[in-house]
Amino acid sequence: MKKNIAVIGAGAAGFFGAIRMKSLLPEANVIVFEKSNKMLAKVKVSGGGRCNVTHACFEVSKLIKNYPRGSKELRSAFMQFACTDTVNWFNDRGVELKIESDGRMFPVSNNSQTIIDCLMDEAERLGVQFSLGTSIKKVTGKEGKIELLFENDSTIEFDAVLIATVVIQIKKDSNGWLQQIIR
Ligand SMILES: Cc1cc2nc3c(=O)[nH]c(=O)nc-3n(C[C@H](O)[C@H](O)[C@H](O)COP(=O)(O)OP(=O)(O)OC[C@H]3O[C@@H](n4cnc5c(N)ncnc54)[C@H](O)[C@@H]3O)c2cc1C
Repeated sequence: MKKNIAVIGAGAAGFFGAIRMKSLLPEANVIVFEKSNKMLAKVKVSGGGRCNVTHACFEVSKLIKNYPRGSKELRSAFMQFACTDTVNWFNDRGVELKIESDGRMFPVSNNSQTIIDCLMDEAERLGVQFSLGTSIKKVTGKEGKIELLFENDSTIEFDAVLIATVVIQIKKDSNGWLQQIIR
């Protein structure tokens, strides 16, 4: 059966997560809910408007040393996708990155809009859907499904939800279901 997947937050994390899920599960419906009317707003201003996409550190064992409080947790994530994969991902979609003397990597265009355009084109090509101006108040686990509560108090059930809002609060309700309240 066709899976319904929700992503909350159209920042860099939510955007890339939605693209990744839609490319792994092309038949799934993937919809991104964003509370503001802008997507990738922080990416636009990142790196002084140039977007410091990644760093020229191509060995996971060296890369994790830059995260002293999370090196163990990040190792397995970086084994799946690290700096080389980032460079290749953008190269494969026609975006060349350059290395500066301190190792930071930027698009050759020196313009974060190049990164935004690439992500937007890829999302559109794959058929990721977006709902802007849509704020999620609460995420609740419900018998194999996940229910999203919207600002207007309507609800929709999904098979999977990726929360990419930066700030969340987790608690249990009286039935013991885990609730995630998005701030
Ligand atoms: C000035 C500046 C420069 C930076 N430069 C760089 C750089 O060059 N390189 C780099 O790697 N990083 C840089 N960063 C950091 C980088 O921008 C962030 O780490 C990254 O954008 C975080 O992405 P995110 O998707 O996790 O979060 P965000 O971009 O914050 O996205 C979260 C999204 O969730 C939405 N949201 C929140 N709550 C809800 C809700 N309840 N319902 C629906 N939507 C919701 C928000 O509106 C937002 O759009 C910079 C940051 C700043 C501020």
